[in-house]
Formats: sequence, C-alpha cells, structure tokens
Amino acid sequence: MALGSVCRSMGRNAHRTLVTEVTTHCSTLRLFLTLVALLCLPSFSYSVLNQTSASAACSYLQNTLGTGVVLPSEDQYQSTSEGNWVQTAWASPSCVIQPTTTDQVSQAVSYLAQIGVHFAIRSGGHSPAPLGANINDGVLFDMSGFNNVEYCAQQGIAVVGTGMRWGDVYHYLDQYNVTVVGGRILQVGVGGLTLGSGLSYLTDMYGLACDNVKSFEVVLANGSVVNANQHSHGDLWWALKGGSNNFGVVTRFTFTTYPTGNVWGGYRVYTLDALPALFDALLQYQSAPVKDRYANLMMQAFPLNETLGVLLNMVYNKPVEAPAAFAPFYDIPTIADTVHIQPMTDFLASQVPPSLPRLNWYATSFKIDATLFKTVEKIVTTSPELDTIRNLTAGSIAVGWQPISTNAIAAGLVRGGNALGLENVNQTWLAIDVGWWDAEDDTTANEATASLIARIEDAARSSGQYVDYIFMNDAAVTQNVIGHYGAGNVARLRAVQRRYDPQEVFQKLVPGGFKLPPQGHEGRPRLIEGSQATPCLVDPRGYPMFLTDGVGWWAHKQTWQITRHWHGIPTKFYGPEDLRGSKAPADLQQGGAEIGTEHREMHTIPPYQQPDNLAVQTGQVWTPSSAVRKGRIRLMLIPPSDMESLGMSTLKNSNPYLGKTITAFEGGIVTRVIDHPHDSSRVFAYEVTFNLQHPRVVAVAAQKPPLHFHPYQEEYIEVLEGRLAVEIEGVEHILGPTDGEFKLRPWCNHRLYSPVTELEAQAKEDNDEWDGERTVFLLSGQDTDQMFRLDTVFFENWYAYQDLIVVKGEKANLVQVMSHAA
Ligand SMILES: Cc1cc2nc3c(=O)[nH]c(=O)nc-3n(C[C@H](O)[C@H](O)[C@H](O)COP(=O)(O)OP(=O)(O)OC[C@H]3O[C@@H](n4cnc5c(N)ncnc54)[C@H](O)[C@@H]3O)c2cc1C
Repeated sequence: MALGSVCRSMGRNAHRTLVTEVTTHCSTLRLFLTLVALLCLPSFSYSVLNQTSASAACSYLQNTLGTGVVLPSEDQYQSTSEGNWVQTAWASPSCVIQPTTTDQVSQAVSYLAQIGVHFAIRSGGHSPAPLGANINDGVLFDMSGFNNVEYCAQQGIAVVGTGMRWGDVYHYLDQYNVTVVGGRILQVGVGGLTLGSGLSYLTDMYGLACDNVKSFEVVLANGSVVNANQHSHGDLWWALKGGSNNFGVVTRFTFTTYPTGNVWGGYRVYTLDALPALFDALLQYQSAPVKDRYANLMMQAFPLNETLGVLLNMVYNKPVEAPAAFAPFYDIPTIADTVHIQPMTDFLASQVPPSLPRLNWYATSFKIDATLFKTVEKIVTTSPELDTIRNLTAGSIAVGWQPISTNAIAAGLVRGGNALGLENVNQTWLAIDVGWWDAEDDTTANEATASLIARIEDAARSSGQYVDYIFMNDAAVTQNVIGHYGAGNVARLRAVQRRYDPQEVFQKLVPGGFKLPPQGHEGRPRLIEGSQATPCLVDPRGYPMFLTDGVGWWAHKQTWQITRHWHGIPTKFYGPEDLRGSKAPADLQQGGAEIGTEHREMHTIPPYQQPDNLAVQTGQVWTPSSAVRKGRIRLMLIPPSDMESLGMSTLKNSNPYLGKTITAFEGGIVTRVIDHPHDSSRVFAYEVTFNLQHPRVVAVAAQKPPLHFHPYQEEYIEVLEGRLAVEIEGVEHILGPTDGEFKLRPWCNHRLYSPVTELEAQAKEDNDEWDGERTVFLLSGQDTDQMFRLDTVFFENWYAYQDLIVVKGEKANLVQVMSHAA
C-alpha cells in the first residue's frame, strides 16, 4: 500500500508502517513469537500468583523479550517505578518492561496471561489513581517507547503511539497546520487520556478525544493484535471509547486531524469574592440557546488559597478578539489577564499542571440551573470538609467547572458513538482536585473530598438536576465510573469483553484502574441519547410500565423485576391492594404532589443494591411528575380494573389514525399507530413488529432496506422486544430492550433492519434467551412546522416503496426517493 509514502513521522521508534499494514505484517511474526513463547514457558500454574512467580516472570522476560526490562536491583528501577506523575500512584513492581514494538507487547501479554501473573499498563502515568497505572508484586508495562507520531496528509489522519505526550504530538503536527483532539495540558499522556474519553478544548467542535480515534491498534489477552475501527472489530472500537484498560493494551491510535492556527485564548484570574458573579456569567454562557462551538472554557476555584481565587481558562478557536460567546464574563474585574491571539499550542503551553506530591480527584455531573449553581458555590466555599483539608500539611483544593454542551455529545454520535452513555443535555462536569503532602493524610484527604462530592450529588439529585455520569479522567478510582455508563452500555461492554477476552485476563490480572462493574453494579437503564421521556399515565396496551428519574420503561410480560440501583433514594412501593376499591389519592388526580403517609411501605435501597424483586400482576405503574422533578422516585401499581374508577384513563383520542394497522411484506412487518406512551409532543408513534420467521421477511433477510434521511424531524427508536440494527452514516448500532431510546438526528442517512443471522450468532455467543421470533420497537418523531414531515401517510408510502425496491427488485424512482426525504 502506498500510504506510507505520503505520511511523515517523528520519534525514535522505528515503526514506520501505518496501522492497517502493521497487522498484516505482524500476524505471521506474531504467531511465530507466540509459539516460541509458549514452547519456552517455564512450568507455572495459573494459580501461582505471588512475588516469586512475578519475579521469575521478569527474569524470563528479560531473557526473551529483547527490550528493556528493569529489575529492582538496577539503577534505573527507582526512576521507572516512580515514573507516575504523583506519589500516590507510585508502587513497587517486580520489574518494569519497556517494549518498543507491538510484537514485544504481544509476547509479554500472552506470556503473563498464560502463567497468571498480574500486570499494569502505564502510558503517560498521569492518573493519580493508586495502582491504576502501576503495581506491587507484578509486571509494569511502561509504554513510553511507543513514542512515534505519523501524519498522513492525504487521509487526514495522525497515527500516534500510546506513550507520547500531547505536547510532542501538537508540536509535531503544527508544522502541517493541523492538530488532533487531545489533552489541554501538554505534559499529559496520550494513552490513558484517550481511553478514558479525553476532554479537549476542541470537544465542542469535534467531540471527545476517543470520538476521534479512527482505529485502535490493540494487543488482546491471547497476544493477537487487532485494529479496531468502524469497519473491522467495530464492537471493540466502540468499547475502547471510554473502556480504559479493560480489553487489551492499546499500542497506537489513528486520530482524525483538523486544521489549526491562531486562537484567542489565555487565562484570567479573579479574587474568590468574584465567584457569585462568575457563576452568573457561567450560567448565561452555558444557557445560550445556540452554544458557539468555537468557545471553550474551564473555571477553577481555589477556596483555600489566599492569593489565587478563581482561574478562568478560556479559548475561542478562531483569531477573533472578545467574541460574544464570552460576553457574560467581560465586566467582571480581574487581577490578571493573559488572553490574547496566539497559536493554539502556545495557548496550551500556558496551562501549567499543578505540582503536589500527593493528589486525587473526584468527579460528578449536573445540569445548568441557577439555584443549583448557588448551592454548589456554597458547598465548595463553606462546607466543614474545607477545614479538614486546610488542616493537612499543604492541604489544598481546586474545584473545576467544565461546561459540556449538546454539540459535544452530537459530535461523538456522528463519529460512531462511544460507550459513555451521555445524556443529551447541556451539563457541567465538575472535578474536585485535592492535594496534600504526607502519606499518613491519604485517608483524611480522600474521605473529606468524597464527602464534598457527595454533598454536591445530593444537592443535584434533590433539585432534579443530577446527570448520571462520572467523567473517568477526573474521577477517583473508588468511583464506579463505568457503572454510570448505563446498564445497556455495560451489558454491551461485557459482551465485548467475553468476545475478546473470554478468560477475563484484563479483569483479573490487570486489577488497577477503572474496571467493568461487577454484576449488580451496572447502573440504571438510560436513554442512549437524550432523556426525552416525560412521566406518563397510561400505556395504551395495558402493559405494566414504570418510570425512574424521567426515563420510562416498558415491561411486556405479566411479571417483571426492578433490577436497578436507586442511589439510596427513599422509594415507596404501592401494591394494587392499596388502591383497590378506594378513592384515588388527591395528589394522584392532580398529577403528583407529595403522597401522604397513609400508604403502606417505604423501602430505602442503598446505592448499588438491587431491591427485592417486585412482581406485578397485570397492572400499571405510575410516577407523579413532581416526584421525578424532586429527584424522588415512587412507583404506584394500579390494576387496570381500577384505572377507570381512579380517573386514569386519560388517553386522548385525537389522532385520526390511532389504532390503524399498516401491514407490509404481506404481514411480515406490522405497524400499529399508537399515542406515544411517554411523550405527547411526538407527532407520530408506531409500534412496529418485524415477524422474523415470516417467509417474506426471511426471503429478504440478507438485504438491507434503502438508506434515507429526514431533514426536519428527529426520529426516536426504542426496542421493546428482540434486537434491532440501526445503521447511521454507515455505522451499525445493535439495540435491545435495555438500551432505552435512540435518537436519530435530521439529515443523517439511516436504515433500520433486523440482522437475523448476526443476531442469532451473537445471541448464541452471549447465551441470551432471545428466541429470534420477533423484533418489536417503538418508532416516533418530533413535530415540525415544515410542510414535508414524517407522519402516517409517509410510513404507508415508505413500506410500499420498500416492497417495490427490496422485494420486487424495481429501480428507485427519483420522485419517490425525494418524497421520502421528508
Ligand atoms: C495535569 C493534568 C491535566 C489533565 N488534563 C486533562 C484534559 O485536558 N483532558 C482529559 O480528558 N484529561 C485530563 N487529565 C486526566 C488524564 O486524562 C488522566 O489522568 C489520564 O489517565 C492520563 O493519561 P496517561 O496516559 O498519562 O495515563 P496513565 O496514568 O498512564 O494511565 C491511566 C489509565 O489508563 C490505562 N492505560 C494507559 N495506557 C493504556 C494503554 N495503552 N492500553 C490500555 N490501558 C492503558 C492505565 O492502565 C491506567 O489505568 C489531566 C491530568 C493531569 C495530571
């Protein structure tokens, strides 16, 4: 392939080939090396996980690997084992191996997996998490030898070694006037930041760092090397976007590059008493109806610092002085101001990392709300935990606000999506950094900061503004980060882990860092994009239904179980007998005031614990909207027979098509027009059933329906039964009932289908109970004033058109195609 000839590279690592070539080239060599490694294995058993076996493994690797292996007896041991940014992450590995080629990584990983020795992976070493990127009594992979960057102008990509620092990457790419989406501080490492998602000053324009990885070169647990990208190992590609060290050792990242140049940026410093004014400004900045994507900022307050009150880093990604996006900040008096027009990399070089021997950080997220902002301000300036930290030697604290807009989330989705399960709302990712001096203060510092974060989370929850997401790169390792990606995403991550690492090497032998949550800790179901659901009253089909934190879920069966954690929120369960024959409580009729105390049960379920299974005979569950708004969740189970007497049959009957059934493919696809069960603003809602065993559907199973788009309306898909493939701009997403709603944006080319053969194979592999009989999903759309809109007539046409093209093999007619771009 001629790609190499148009690419330019930097670094002492002699690897010059592009990622695509690396695998082909390596596969034979790798097989040979793996065989050699296996033949030469000393006779260790998998269960011998102790210092001796780790030390013996180090000697073996030193003799066979052909690269640096630093043993404790050697001079460089101290500097390599203490190569992590802060002391809290230092450890005493049995040896540090320093591979420079993918084959060396492959050989070492497969060997350690075979003999069951623990290991850790370190790229830049900037995670402060104890034992996240270092290890005691095990082997540390120091990936700093992967220090090559290669730019391919024709493809608009840069292939970057995991051991590089962002500064080296940016400086190299500057000569071509391009950059990549990466870290905001030049010293930080590429590998950990990207695998933890990666927040950049370009995120509002192009998404997170992980969203911009076109391909990951990964060494798997069995030593094989794969390139995970959209077209090959797409499930692993998705999983690595937020999956950290759970799936393999990533050696190289192929990033999309973007043009770069001068920006208007720098920092402004304020006294702490400017904080209320800064919060008002922040609120206005984040609430802009159309957020300017070129504007980015991070604000940090230092409540324990005598001189430095608040630091505002701001950048406008164009050489435009004082753009309107930052106007709310302009009148607030500063004590220092460095903002000016300068090259992007110079702006980044002005951001200096803190320098403290011991450090940790904790993260939480919430929406944009004036009252909550004031509460948070009070918590971080007056809480008693501040005194605790102040009393530690060199105790200090920095509270960082990072505005994330829906632009960033959309940018990730159009690039194929990630594993993070982000809610499509403007939000703040808050990080509290705590620094101190002495190891003996570790527990006090951590407990005080965790307690501050808990106060903020409580405030966010009780105001209804909590966002169920913890940003990994700012999180403490004790926070269940991946458990907050949502149960659907965790299930997908587990499926990827079972496929690529069936022996769970990266779960069991790589103990440090942010791991996949254990069963029962996987978080609650969530919408894939956007929490569009509003509390609802009636499921037209009489199925039981329940609703939590504004997210509605269906249960098709007569009995169901609640299998989610409830964050310690007091939860009331009402049995049908509470209401049978009685009058509806006043608050029920009014739509949800506080329910009185005369009701039966109150369960408080601690975080991450499942409530007792709750079986509902035919009935409905209803949650008052005010309870959701107040962050409390209550379930009310009402037998259908009592619905009418309780005045709950509120189904509007205004839709002239309501109840109408459209059949296509001679009954293979059945579409029933319904009122949307939890969002009355949807202009249409259908329950679509694909009868997968129907001969007309079986006959076209290998064919995909035509791609189409809608210019004005957002379309929503929620799988109720089976699985559905949604292909958007060439990227396939497999959705199931735990995945929540999936939003399709206007202008995105898409198609929906049930990929029978893949599904069967996957279900078999996952040991799922899916019977392959039907796929049932809710399809609905947003309203629009535009003349051409999606409605029932459109769908009648659409299926007739599919019959014509897919089944009868006729050619697409331009007029018809255009009418379907409604
Ligand atoms: C001063 C400073 C500024 C920061 N600024 C930002 C910022 O702007 N944006 C942002 O998103 N984050 C930022 N961070 C947080 C940073 O992203 C994390 O600390 C990240 O872990 C650092 O990456 P690293 O390569 O140095 O990680 P390491 O400490 O080396 O590793 C972190 C984790 O990733 C795993 N890992 C690393 N490399 C690999 C690999 N190749 N394969 C598999 N697993 C691997 C490790 O096992 C470990 O668990 C900053 C951190 C610091 C200290």
